[in-house]
Amino acid sequence: MSKQLFLLPGDGIGVEVMGEVQKLVAWLNQQQKADFTTDTGLVGGCAYDKYGVAISDDDMKKALASDAVIFGAVGGAKWDKVPYEVRPEAGLLRLRKDMALFANLRPAICYPALADASSLKRELIEGLDILIVRELTGGVYFGEPKEITDLGNGQKRAVDTQVYETYEIDRIVRVAFDLARTRKKKVHSADKKNVMKSGVLWDEVAHAVAADYADVAFEHILADNAAMQLVRNPKQFDVMVTDNLFGDVLSDAAAMLTGSLGMLPSASLGAPDKATGTRKALYEPVHGSAPDIAGKGIANPIAMLASFAMALRYSFGMIELADKLEGAIAAVLDDGLRTGDIAQGGKSVGTEEMGAAILKKLAA
Ligand code: NAD
Repeated sequence: MSKQLFLLPGDGIGVEVMGEVQKLVAWLNQQQKADFTTDTGLVGGCAYDKYGVAISDDDMKKALASDAVIFGAVGGAKWDKVPYEVRPEAGLLRLRKDMALFANLRPAICYPALADASSLKRELIEGLDILIVRELTGGVYFGEPKEITDLGNGQKRAVDTQVYETYEIDRIVRVAFDLARTRKKKVHSADKKNVMKSGVLWDEVAHAVAADYADVAFEHILADNAAMQLVRNPKQFDVMVTDNLFGDVLSDAAAMLTGSLGMLPSASLGAPDKATGTRKALYEPVHGSAPDIAGKGIANPIAMLASFAMALRYSFGMIELADKLEGAIAAVLDDGLRTGDIAQGGKSVGTEEMGAAILKKLAA
């Protein structure tokens, strides 16, 4: 049965890099390697220009009805002064909220050809492929009370509250174990159970979930040690699951072990549907709309195409095709092809040339 993709290119280079996904999808359909139906909507500044909101109710309905949302990027100086609730980013926040996307997936993959561009030694990161699974809708960013109180004596008191309930930990840890089953079957759960009650509960629930996945290796790690190990010996990890705050920090650190913004994909997943087992999902590059290079045809499409590879892997179970797409990306980099952001001053190609070269490798 045909799978429904809802494409939201957004603004700036979002439109340019999404163009390469559209070509790839057309080719997959034509070659009968997949059967995708696509629809395209507006999000961000372009949606504001047309509808006065960052995403219309109609497009929101289409996103909810789709098998996967493929998102480009939003924003730009043109919309810097629009009202806060309809600013471009509000479109992405509404998608995350209405689709209940509680699991954020940030892979860190080291393409051998770019290993020397890392701040770590080649031998530490060559072949690196780790996935940080971050809880996205709970924890200290949302817990109440959250306030600054004036104590009246020239002092103020600031409070943020870290709160997690069993079900929130259970569902994110299950995501990590399910994903590990499609990878190297190893999960690390990072918390601060040595000093935080929320960490004690996190670890208790993580161990309970691990008991349901006898085929996946499980280890606890303290979040500060996780940060240290990520820069000391990152290849020891496969999947690392952690809360919203630690995940924010650890996923940025892990991603930047390997790449430039133009290379980093991500995914956000919701709960599995009880009847079908499928999840709501949104796939997007980590980068923004890059107004400084928008319209020039020079944006790196790899983060966007690698996000689509994540959709193939995690929403559609097309593991072999996802491997091949990631392999095609690695192969063009091996051939020395570079967009401006990763050329390090050398010769560079444009968005379409990079996209076409990846497609050609896939077809070979
Ligand atoms: P940015 O990610 O757009 O750009 C940062 C730098 O990286 C720029 O120099 C840009 O040219 C470069 N870059 C980013 N992606 C690239 C790519 N694929 N190829 C080549 N170079 C690339 O971040 P910013 O400049 O801080 O923000 C620009 C706009 O994007 C703002 O309006 C911001 O709010 C928005 N933004 C949106 C998202 C999103 O849609 N998820 C994320 C971050 C920023």
